[in-house]
Amino acid sequence: MNGRNSRWTKQLKLILDIVYESDHPITADEVYTRSRGSMPNISLGTVYRNLNKLVSEGLVSESNANGISTFCKHPFPNTTFECSSCRKLVSVPVDLNVLELSKRSGMAVERYTLQLHGVCKGCQRKCT
Ligand SMILES: [Zn+2]
Repeated sequence: MNGRNSRWTKQLKLILDIVYESDHPITADEVYTRSRGSMPNISLGTVYRNLNKLVSEGLVSESNANGISTFCKHPFPNTTFECSSCRKLVSVPVDLNVLELSKRSGMAVERYTLQLHGVCKGCQRKCT
């Protein structure tokens, strides 16, 4: 129903990339400064709105130290599902055991991302 509100927009993608490419927990102001390199017209409000959305989707974690919020990539991000019809983004919790995987493979796996594509429940009910 609220597919329109969950659009996986260009701004959202950019902000996600900035948080994930940062090697330290990043503040909203830093995200804003960096995002202006690619999108000069982006507003601080848009940055905040998208950061909050990423936190609620489970893609980014927020911590608060000395009254300042910082954002960093979620250590074990939920799998995201993107509807090919309405572009709605939903997080699907998938618990891959990264430690176990590291032990078995001998590779030091630090994180994973999984992107699922398909048609969401709402769109499946719409007949074309
Ligand atoms: Zn859909």
